[in-house]
Amino acid sequence: MASIREIATAESHAQPSSNNCALCFDPLLIPNPSDEGPAMIIDDVELRCSHHFHWSCFTEYDADGNDRTLCPECGETTLQRGGQLLVIVRNEGGVTAGFDLGAALDEEKFYDDNPALRREMAFLNMISMSELEAAQELLEEGVDVDCRDSETGGTALHLAVVNGDEEGIMMLLGYGASREVRDSSGRTPADVAREMGAEAAWRFLQQQ
Ligand SMILES: [Zn+2]
Ligand SMILES: [Zn+2]
Repeated sequence: MASIREIATAESHAQPSSNNCALCFDPLLIPNPSDEGPAMIIDDVELRCSHHFHWSCFTEYDADGNDRTLCPECGETTLQRGGQLLVIVRNEGGVTAGFDLGAALDEEKFYDDNPALRREMAFLNMISMSELEAAQELLEEGVDVDCRDSETGGTALHLAVVNGDEEGIMMLLGYGASREVRDSSGRTPADVAREMGAEAAWRFLQQQ
């Protein structure tokens, strides 16, 4: 989207960029969307050239097909010598220096291109937090009950066992979750239960 860049270039002299986003010119301090905490929070991505952007402004700029390796404001490279796009992120969670924005943007793009995977990841997150109602909604929307965690190779049933979440185990078995599926260490959910000494969970998994 060349138009934003042209505007940025045209107006950059009139706008002090240090306290404002160099893409939308709005202050980096934004109203807190949450009821809790301070009324205003910082939303700031700082590139190595010291130009500042809102998180969503820079991620949209990237998603629109612009070259993320050049600062939208000054045109300098955004990359470190190692080729990584590292930034300083300031938000309500604090300050994170050396944040790998390039990797975060790649991950975001990957899930945008694979919405089914995004729902699976959300489902596994819900199960790991024992938020069963939300997990069940995703199952009703057609998420595969036996989908795998990309890191452990385990399923939701493995996660529920690790959590000692008997209600979750019953719910997943009710949706036909496989008891035979193995994680990347070769363990079935029952193996995990046995390893953890989770007897009740182990017994559930033996019932037919
Ligand atoms: Zn902005
Ligand atoms: Zn810059």
